[in-house]
This record gives sequence, C-alpha cells and structure tokens, in this order.
Amino acid sequence: MSDKNSVPVVHCDVVIIGGGPSGLSAATELKKQGIANVIIVEREADAGGIPRHCGHPPFGMREFSRVMTGPGYARALVRRAERCGVDIRLNTSVINIDPDGKLQVSTPQGISNIMADRVIIATGVREKPRSARLVSGTRPLAITTVGALQSMIYLKHLIPFRRPVIVGSELVSFSAIWTCIGAGIKPVAMLEKTKSILTFWPSQWFPRLFRIPLFYQSSIVEILGKDRVTGVVISDQSGQLRNIKCDGVIFSGEFLPESSLANKAGLDIDPHTGGPVIDQFGRCSNPGIFATGNLLRPVETAGWCWREGKNTGAWVADDLKGKLPQVKNNLTQSLAQSLAISLESPLIKLAVPQRIQMPYDGTGMKHIQIRFLQSCKGQLILLYGSRVIWRKSLNAKPEARVLIPLHILKNISVKDQLHLDFQCADSSSCHLGE
Ligand SMILES: Cc1cc2nc3c(=O)[nH]c(=O)nc-3n(C[C@H](O)[C@H](O)[C@H](O)COP(=O)(O)OP(=O)(O)OC[C@H]3O[C@@H](n4cnc5c(N)ncnc54)[C@H](O)[C@@H]3O)c2cc1C
Repeated sequence: MSDKNSVPVVHCDVVIIGGGPSGLSAATELKKQGIANVIIVEREADAGGIPRHCGHPPFGMREFSRVMTGPGYARALVRRAERCGVDIRLNTSVINIDPDGKLQVSTPQGISNIMADRVIIATGVREKPRSARLVSGTRPLAITTVGALQSMIYLKHLIPFRRPVIVGSELVSFSAIWTCIGAGIKPVAMLEKTKSILTFWPSQWFPRLFRIPLFYQSSIVEILGKDRVTGVVISDQSGQLRNIKCDGVIFSGEFLPESSLANKAGLDIDPHTGGPVIDQFGRCSNPGIFATGNLLRPVETAGWCWREGKNTGAWVADDLKGKLPQVKNNLTQSLAQSLAISLESPLIKLAVPQRIQMPYDGTGMKHIQIRFLQSCKGQLILLYGSRVIWRKSLNAKPEARVLIPLHILKNISVKDQLHLDFQCADSSSCHLGE
C-alpha cells in the first residue's frame, strides 16, 4: 500500500524502534500476549543491541538461566523473538515519528512509512564522546568510546591501540578493561574524577588484578600527539599536572539516552534523565507512544533492560485490549489525572517514572527508581504535599540504584504533588561535587 505521496506504507499493531534487549523482549512479550502484527525496526545489520559487541560474560542469567557472552546472548534473544513470529526489519532507521504513530523509515530500498496502533521507543543510550566533554589538545587518531572500541574489536577485528588510558570508572569502564585484555591491549591508567569508583566497590580490584593504576580525583586535561595519540596530561589528586605516555584514549560512560526521536516526536523530555517522561506503564506524554530500556535513564544492565522491555510489552498489550487505565489524548487533561514527582535535593540525579497515573491500583511498575549524583549518607524522603509518606536511611553511592515502593501511593489522591528530598546525616557526608 502507498500513501497519497506514493510512499509505501506498512500497517501493524505495534512497532518497536530498536532491536536491543529491551526492544526484543517487548516484542516477544507482545506476541506471547496474542498481538498479531509486531514489527521491530533496527538500523544495524543485526539485531541484539549493545550486547552484540560485548564479547565477554556475564549476560543471560535472568533470561536463560546460564552465563553467556554478549554476542551469544544477543543471538539467543533474536532467535526467541523470531520463533514467536516477530517481524525484525534490519538496516532500517526510523527518521521521524508523527503524533498519530506514523513512522518514517529509511531502508536500503528508500523511504517508507509504518503505521502502528502503538509505538515503543527502545533506542538505548550513547556514551559522551570527547567533543561533548570539552577536552582540549590535538585531534589525533585513536580516541574512542567503549562502544566504538568494542565494535572495532569484536565486530571488525581491528586493534586501534596497544597502551590506552581509560577515562571513567562506571561499569562500562570495567567492560573496557575486559575487552582490552582479551584483545592483547594493556591499558596504562584508569582515571576517575571523584573519590571512589562509580560502580560496585569490588570492581576496584579488577584494574589491580591487571596492574592498571587507578587514579582517583583525576581528570584528563589535554590530549597530546600529531597523527596518533602520544600521551595525555592529567590533573591528579593534588591538583598537579602530570604527563602519562599512551597511544590511545578510551572515554567511558557518562551515558546519554538516545532520545533524538522522542524529541522529534514532541514528547516531554525529563531534564534529569535526558529520556522521555513516562508514567508507571512506560507511557509517554503522547499516550500512543511508550518507551523502555536504557532510553529511560542512563544506564542499566542488559538483564534489567530486558525485564523492563518484557513488562512494557505486557502493558502495551493490555492497552490494546483496553485494560490499561485510560488517559485522555489531551495532555492537559491527562496531566490532571497524574501525580508528578519533583526532585528537591540537588544530590538526587534522577527518578523514573516521572508521573504516576492515579488512582494507583498496583498495576504497572512496582517502584520509582532513584539515582544519586554522589556518595551521601542520610534519609531519602517522599512527601505528598508537605506530608512525609515514606522515608529510608541510606548510604547512597553515585550511580547505584535505589528503589521506592509504589504501593505507598495506594490511598493517595491526585490533589497535590510528590516531592523527593534527601536529608544529609551531617554536612560532611554530603558534599556536592566531591
Ligand atoms: C559501550 C557500552 C557497553 C556496555 N556494556 C555492558 C555490559 O558489559 N553488560 C551489561 O549488562 N550492560 C552493558 N551496557 C549497557 C547496555 O546499554 C545494556 O546492556 C543493554 O544493551 C540496553 O538495552 P536496550 O535495548 O535498552 O538498548 P540497546 O542495546 O542500546 O539497543 C538499542 C537499539 O536501538 C537501535 N536504534 C537506535 N536508534 C534507532 C533508530 N533511529 N532506528 C532504528 N534503530 C535504532 C540501535 O541500533 C540498537 O540496536 C553497555 C552499554 C554501552 C553503551
């Protein structure tokens, strides 16, 4: 079929943008729930998302009850979706979403349109590149992100350098060490700008195992080299500048949700997460569009995103069957039915979902997910108007996930706002910008 401009149009029940773990699990679940026509649109030549180029374990424990490498896990997710009858369209990029659910896609055969009753955006995250980090110096070869490094090594079998510096200490930075060691590359240093690593503390032993010095409170100030990288200048713990010889730089982490399409579709974007604003069903400000996986917030593991996608698939199926609490198409009216969560403490980095459709009946997400910007000790408090309805003492770590149960909202009406605050145990335990 073609529209009036003779652009081919395909019709389906649900179209999912992105064939990573969250998109694949959402599609598989939709088919299991009896939804007939489910299409995944994936811009790469293979589906599977980021795990396709994470050639190391551990993946798949939650989903397949065994330890797998990223590529094996990605292939298994694709097989499972295909067995359920999901139509996966590769080498196909979505370039626009209309408010009525029409997608404009670019395929090797040209531009076409997909019309769907519901759209799920599952486009994941990207890492902050050098340009966005404003690192000064020359522009030689061999400066990369972990994602680009992994695709060079695992997918193209290229070795870009032998002795790089790794910038950052999020989980993905340790994945970079794993990738390097497996490819015969020996990182010469790892730099972290705060006082501690930004992931589970036992990971700090990982660089030591491979004799990679880990510099805390240190950042890269300049990259040296004409054609190729020859070194970096760093500012160390004492504020002194020092040179490190190296032949490459890996910028890791500082993820940003891949929300360009959500932006183009005119969806409300949360300045804290960088992803679309959602309710407890993953529904965006346009109720025909849902979002799932790492697009919701930077950044979770594959297993977590897989489960988010599966849940979102079930909620979209319920929505198509008229079982989800309905919201009006008019945004102002639907906002009147929902509670917004405002972040009062500058220590709180983000909260997802950002709105709760009321009355809360226990369906949808079970928790609000919180992240902190840095280590801090004290009490996390949820207020409804000025009334405290939940509190918890905690020793928060940056990037660690904190969950607030949503069942506490069961007897609450929609008259006021939810406020999330943090009371520090003492001022020394909560220094912003530590
Ligand atoms: C470099 C890097 C390394 C990581 N390493 C690990 C690890 O070792 N272990 C772990 O558990 N997690 C890791 N993660 C986290 C990772 O994001 C999750 O594991 C998981 O891949 C998230 O799944 P997702 O489906 O939300 O997104 P993704 O896996 O990112 O999938 C998104 C998909 O959307 C597609 N897409 C985007 N835009 C469009 C468009 N316009 N049109 C069509 N298709 C589009 C992309 O091509 C991609 O396939 C890593 C992340 C990064 C960036």
